[in-house]
Amino acid sequence: MAPHQIADVLIPLALDTAYSYAAPPGMSLAEGDVVQVPLGTRESLGVVWSLREGAGANLKSITAVLDAPPLGPKLRRFIDWIARYTLAPKGSALALALRVPEPSRTEPLRVAVRATGQLPKRLTPARARVLAAVNGGLLHPKRELAQAAGVGIGVIDALVDDGVLETVALPSESIAEQPDPGHVRPSLSADQRQAAGLLMAVVGTTALAHAGGPEARAVAGVVGKAPVILLEGVTGSGKTEVYFEAVAAALRRGVQALILMPEIALTAQFVDRFVARFGVRPALWHAGIGARRRERLYEAVAAGEVPVVAGARSALFLPFARLGLIVVDEEHEAAYKQEDGLCYHARDLAVVRGRIEDCPVILASATPSIETRVNVERARYKRVALPERYGGRSLPQIRAVDLRKDAIPPGRWLSETLRWAMTDALAGGEQVLLFLNRRGYAPLTLCRACGHRYECANCSAWLVEHRFRRALICHHCGHTERRPEACVACGTVDSLAPCGPGVERIAEEVAERFPDKRSIVLSSDFPGGTERLRQELKGIAEGAFDIVIGTQLVAKGHNFPQLTLVGVLDADIGLTSGDPRAAERTFQLLQQVTGRAGRGAKPGRALVQTYQPDHPVMAALLSGDAERFYREETRAREMAGLPPFGRLAAVIVSATERSAAEAHSRALALEALPPDGVTVLGPAEAPLALVRGRYRFRLLVKTEREVDLQAFLRAWFARAPKPRGGVKVAIDVDPQSFL
Ligand code: ADP
Ligand code: ZN
Repeated sequence: MAPHQIADVLIPLALDTAYSYAAPPGMSLAEGDVVQVPLGTRESLGVVWSLREGAGANLKSITAVLDAPPLGPKLRRFIDWIARYTLAPKGSALALALRVPEPSRTEPLRVAVRATGQLPKRLTPARARVLAAVNGGLLHPKRELAQAAGVGIGVIDALVDDGVLETVALPSESIAEQPDPGHVRPSLSADQRQAAGLLMAVVGTTALAHAGGPEARAVAGVVGKAPVILLEGVTGSGKTEVYFEAVAAALRRGVQALILMPEIALTAQFVDRFVARFGVRPALWHAGIGARRRERLYEAVAAGEVPVVAGARSALFLPFARLGLIVVDEEHEAAYKQEDGLCYHARDLAVVRGRIEDCPVILASATPSIETRVNVERARYKRVALPERYGGRSLPQIRAVDLRKDAIPPGRWLSETLRWAMTDALAGGEQVLLFLNRRGYAPLTLCRACGHRYECANCSAWLVEHRFRRALICHHCGHTERRPEACVACGTVDSLAPCGPGVERIAEEVAERFPDKRSIVLSSDFPGGTERLRQELKGIAEGAFDIVIGTQLVAKGHNFPQLTLVGVLDADIGLTSGDPRAAERTFQLLQQVTGRAGRGAKPGRALVQTYQPDHPVMAALLSGDAERFYREETRAREMAGLPPFGRLAAVIVSATERSAAEAHSRALALEALPPDGVTVLGPAEAPLALVRGRYRFRLLVKTEREVDLQAFLRAWFARAPKPRGGVKVAIDVDPQSFL
């Protein structure tokens, strides 16, 4: 028999190996092609991972080659790398990157709806949310409205049937416009110019290296080795302006640029600034983009037709044809860590993708992660610094309010010092931001009569009262119940007492203290969804509110020019978590939130309410001596052998039966047999012992830096008993969360 062409096809499911299929005679196949193959009793998608000649007598045949962008060799290498590093099945890594157009191409491209003014015959909570999210006679793309209101498309359709909403077809928009690198050139400060010049040279050089010109070697002598650069600039130093120049350089070279952001759905200001610099909007990529548009973008990115993509972490897996620059904005952000399903850190993967694509990676932050700082010290990354705020503005003056001395009466959260400062700022027509990283009204509710504490039935977590919604909500699984009139345990009426503050409760105190000021509460569960939130953020920037009360959602990235005073209500919250990164996280968050003050014409200040003004984190914040904090924290990590001086992996065993989870975690521990340089801690019941009805036990693997952590894990799981009976084992390499 004549030799066949045999394709090893990787299926985007939790499978670790590619399956072999025969190519039917006459089918022209290439590596990376997206194909349809029989799998069991169904047909499945897959990607040709490799091709070879062979007999292939008993193999099933590939059904078809699909009309979808093939996955290039670099992207396939990236996927292989991800699977190897995270220990995820290769097919699961492929699923991150593979997207295949739906065959229903005739579907109208964009359908928008708007309110007709008619009232619904029947009002359900879901419908009410939709109505809260539709804004007057404005047009809302259907999917975006559904997403903003947190309802299914069906709810919107039903409202259309009811005559409450009407549909309007929108013209199809062009998928990506061409940004103009020369649109409006900013006038940069001397520091900025120097930083931008360096970044531009690097982008230019590597792009030249792609073209293979000898000129490239002359420029920097770094051909074939695109650098990773930390752009470290204090809040308000103009990091965005500076990395935009690197993007401009990429545009001039004709290579594609990817800008990753931690919370893309909220970056209206970023888009405005991009438009101001380049004349058009960047192509955005995040979960809020409609499926159809995403599909078209995916294809256009693969065709090299999208010069700049700004996106959430999932943009990292797009099939760029000519990637020439990756920017990771706010590189220290914990939001880059994906912890559901395949666990990865988008910043670290950006560096890997940059290496594979041979393109420079810029990591921008005012408060870089310890990992990145250490990489600079080890000379693996370069560093470009912007030590001062743009326009001669000074950094905010930060002072502690020592709550041991400046005592606050029970049930109140604003110290007298803070109230005076607020009165002062507000009298001058300035804005105040009160920061408390707690959503809802109160983090704990208990019964005054019997002491019963309201806890989630599915998680080991307190239910958080949300007064606007009259509900008790679990922040881990979303479980929501009505706040009862009478205690569910003892039946006493009106006995429930809120304990501790959330932002809604602060709003109550603010309304009482400053009744004639306009205030707003902002957190990620903002009623009305993302679109409303975006509008409110814009309103704040334009001065529509006097007092902003917010969680970390407002702490970062935003530019509110009239904001001069930041009050941190409970600076100690994050320090008690027992997480090895608690100090770093708290420092970063407080530095970011205090950095919101004084970004406009008037200087800013921040008051930080704390019981521990002498804690190293507070001391560093108050003295402005970030270097000292980094030095000490880095040393502490080194002493403890924690990342980046050692490696960590978490193994989480979960089951609906506590005993099953515990038994399997013990069985795993028995088989660990750690060699020299490896320690396996646990199993221990996870701090969040119950999540979504599953009991959780944790093992923590700690190794020296030189140890091949993945090889150890792989060998361990190969000999350990396989989980059975609904037990799940999740592996998180480089864990960020220790819950
Ligand atoms: P960072 O990201 O470092 O906190 P931004 O890039 O947000 O700083 O810049 C802070 C503010 O200063 C923004 O309003 C920005 O528009 C302004 N800015 C920074 N550099 C310039 C410049 N060269 N010309 C005009 N405005 C600038
Ligand atoms: Zn829960």
